[in-house]
Amino acid sequence: MTKQENIPLALVGIGKIAHDQHLPSIARNPDFSLAATVSRNNSVEGVISFSTLTALLNSESTISAVALCTPPHVRFEMAWQALSAGKHVLLEKPPGATLSEVQSLHDLALKNGLTLYATWHARHAAAVDAARAWLSNQHIEAMRIVWKEDVRRWHPGQDWIWQAGNLGVFDPGINALSIMTHILPHAVHLTSADLEFPSNCQTPIAAKLEFATPSGAAISAEFDWRHTGHQTWDIIIETDNGMMKLSDGGSHMQVGGGPAQHGKDREYETIYRNFAALITANKCDVDLAPLRHVADAFLLGKRRMTDPFTDTSPS
Ligand code: NAP
Repeated sequence: MTKQENIPLALVGIGKIAHDQHLPSIARNPDFSLAATVSRNNSVEGVISFSTLTALLNSESTISAVALCTPPHVRFEMAWQALSAGKHVLLEKPPGATLSEVQSLHDLALKNGLTLYATWHARHAAAVDAARAWLSNQHIEAMRIVWKEDVRRWHPGQDWIWQAGNLGVFDPGINALSIMTHILPHAVHLTSADLEFPSNCQTPIAAKLEFATPSGAAISAEFDWRHTGHQTWDIIIETDNGMMKLSDGGSHMQVGGGPAQHGKDREYETIYRNFAALITANKCDVDLAPLRHVADAFLLGKRRMTDPFTDTSPS
């Protein structure tokens, strides 16, 4: 595809993230035009709407790309259908319910000469690239990830997050792992996990993880969805050259006692710019590292049953 061509795109799953980020980012990106939506319950004014992806793909629509904003447990079939129909596919994070299904999608995209883009929006937060560059010259002694938020505030009425095939507290936690795997200059692997499951849910509400590194640095992560008050999305890194803190989900970086550095968050703007570039270059971008760590936590994790979860938030 040449750079000048505008890419007619369908947005599938018109929920929170579609409204908050995808619709405004598509509207601002001249490489894309929103040609259709797929949703069982919602629509976008002025845009043709279908209740299923099958109906869209069987229609006269001339879309050439699909962005999937549905929950992970229903993503695979839609992505497979779209790639089989010759459409480029963008996957919201996490890219799927299992590692193997995403691998199958990647294989199909390569076979059909299409772009598959497994997005990790948190990697494009304002200070993440600066943190990665700074860390590349340091000896890392320890890293502590603290991701504590109130599930009722951020996921009101989203029953799917508690169903098998979705990630529970790893739904935000995987954002931290996507940053970790992007800024660390070497691979790490999980050595222990403690998971807390509400007695009425299939996915965890809290998790504590420990990782081993080739250098012996101590890396830990704590995810908790029961946290009210000040919300915390921090990564604190100790090096032989002092401490660095990446806070607010990667938006701010502070080295030692110095001033906090931050820029404007352009996470989804960057995602759509990358998607257009990948389509033009006829390439895929499918990094499974963050999902692999979550899968390892489900494999290794010690499980503890905790109080049942009740969604008391107004949905
Ligand atoms: P959401 O508000 O619940 O929206 C999910 C959308 O998928 C809805 O439009 C929903 O219904 C559609 N859908 C299709 N099949 C579904 C099914 N079986 N169960 C539930 N919904 C189904 O969720 P969201 O917060 O936008 O999250 C969607 C994805 O984006 C997740 O993977 C999440 O990790 C990721 N994400 C979310 C955020 C955030 O701040 N919320 C941030 C970054 C990434 P309709 O058919 O009615 O459209």
